[in-house]
Amino acid sequence: SKQDSFETDSDTGDLNEIEQLDKEHVFGTWSYQKEVQPTQVVDADGVRFTDADGNDFIDFSSQLMCSNLGHSAEKVEEAIAEQASKVGYVAPSYTTEVRAKLGQKLAEVTPGDLSKTFFSTSGTEAVEAAIKIARFYTGKQKIISRYRSYHGATYGSISVTGDPRRLESEPGIPGTIKAPDPYAYGSTLDPMESLEYIDEMLELEGNTVAAVLVEPIVGSNGILVPPDEYLPRLKEIAHDHGALLICDEVMAGFGRTGEWFGCDVFDVEPDIMTMAKGLTGAYQPLGATIVNSEIAEHFDENMFCHGHTYAGHPVAVAAGLATIETYQEENLIERANEIGKYLGAQIDKLAEKHPSVGETRGVGLFRGIELTKHSEKRVPFGEREDKINPGSTVVDEVSATAYESGTYVANMINTLIIAPPLTITKDEIDEAINAIDVGLDVSDNAMKQ
Ligand code: PLP
Repeated sequence: SKQDSFETDSDTGDLNEIEQLDKEHVFGTWSYQKEVQPTQVVDADGVRFTDADGNDFIDFSSQLMCSNLGHSAEKVEEAIAEQASKVGYVAPSYTTEVRAKLGQKLAEVTPGDLSKTFFSTSGTEAVEAAIKIARFYTGKQKIISRYRSYHGATYGSISVTGDPRRLESEPGIPGTIKAPDPYAYGSTLDPMESLEYIDEMLELEGNTVAAVLVEPIVGSNGILVPPDEYLPRLKEIAHDHGALLICDEVMAGFGRTGEWFGCDVFDVEPDIMTMAKGLTGAYQPLGATIVNSEIAEHFDENMFCHGHTYAGHPVAVAAGLATIETYQEENLIERANEIGKYLGAQIDKLAEKHPSVGETRGVGLFRGIELTKHSEKRVPFGEREDKINPGSTVVDEVSATAYESGTYVANMINTLIIAPPLTITKDEIDEAINAIDVGLDVSDNAMKQ
């Protein structure tokens, strides 16, 4: 799929003048540059976007699982314009009304005692800050994270990332350790057994681990939802060993799961939480790292050795505040929960119809369809010979076929990642599901070869 984080299409196709210019002068992310095929987007409205040839697509993955309000969030658009004309920028040592109020809002919508936020400009920076805070606060260095995870591209966050995107950046920062995952469908370890393994890892590391860092529901590594008891028990295990629990809510946060945050699905309050993406519905680049009051107070007497020129950028936090107010005023979190059930039911129908669907997973508007070439043996399609992007070309073809039918759906490894804007209607879901239905005929056929 052309719009996915990984570019694999070797067909250079017809690029228009703008696309050609872009290809020449701008790096495509996570890709072999010769294969990059930028598509110019000229308009975006509601849950749809339009390319330069006038083709419309339903945005069934909210771009990179981030445009949670779709593309017509007027309140956010106005807040950005207003703030830009009032105070477009001041240094982080000053404050603005929007920054203070967004800090207060985040304390309100995040669970329990999480109360003080560091603002940055992306998910990866939110994770960098979480790692540093955990190290400063505990005085310990090691971070345990899991293999099937993505936490960002800068050096700290790529080092705690477990998926193959980390490989080219290894050895990364010292002190990162990977643990197994709660992945019942594809791993030999039972999810709860994998937890006992983490318990033993913590034991064997002695008292040297600052934090255990997890996505409460794994996002780009296949929408992995752990059993209900998993996250509460993980917090217990971490605390028993003097380690903090960091939940990376960059993708799962802000209504995606039908709750404010992924950890709310399991009633767990982490010690530190990272956010980005849905925090502004992607209207502005903004990351946030929130900590509980005990950790916050530690920095009253110990220096908070961290910051950026753009920390708490007024225009970005104005977008964040307007976004959260929109979730609240339009009851979008509850809506995601309700309409998410409808989405889940339609996906289950696809699974019944198409033998190449191995498993469907997810909650709310955060769903995955994992493909298989052998239902009983659960063999993944895996033709692509690329260590960084080991998924299959078949899942790319499924996405590409859905795209030809008017729906953009991202994929990773062997899984279609379905994460539409929280504003999507049932009719729009039906339209997108029909396009994926056509796409899955391709994987059904590939099973036979
Ligand atoms: N953490 C998670 C769970 C993510 O899904 C991502 C991005 O997909 C990141 C961190 C990194 O965020 P960003 O791309 O904004 O740096």
